[in-house]
Amino acid sequence: MVSDDCLFCRIVRGEIPADVVAEGESWLAFRDIQPQAPVHVLVIPRRHVESVDSLAPEDADLSGDLLLAAAEVARVEGIAESGYRAVTNVGERAGQSVFHLHVHVLGGRRMRWPPG
Ligand code: AMP
Repeated sequence: MVSDDCLFCRIVRGEIPADVVAEGESWLAFRDIQPQAPVHVLVIPRRHVESVDSLAPEDADLSGDLLLAAAEVARVEGIAESGYRAVTNVGERAGQSVFHLHVHVLGGRRMRWPPG
């Protein structure tokens, strides 16, 4: 399922341009428009899923695809060795602003923990 007015569904459909760095059958990876690190890529499912909280048991394969994709992106972007963060915000209070599931892949600098 795709959503007509969802920003990331529109990127999947090619209606809004994105700097795509890698893609797979079930996912797409593109650069974040407001990067928070030297490498900041978003991995999204092609199918509309609102967040991790909306995943169903039958989405187990898709969930795995997204994590494997994050690792692939890190390798392609040259940050696999130096370390990176793969994070997904769930809900507005956690910082989610686009309600189409996405994994942020961040790296290329030292990452602080815990986040604010
Ligand atoms: P979140 O706040 O976790 O929902 O993350 C949404 C991310 O999407 C933010 O880091 C935004 O900078 C990013 N973003 C918003 N619009 C676009 C766009 N058109 N292309 C790429 N990244 C975007």
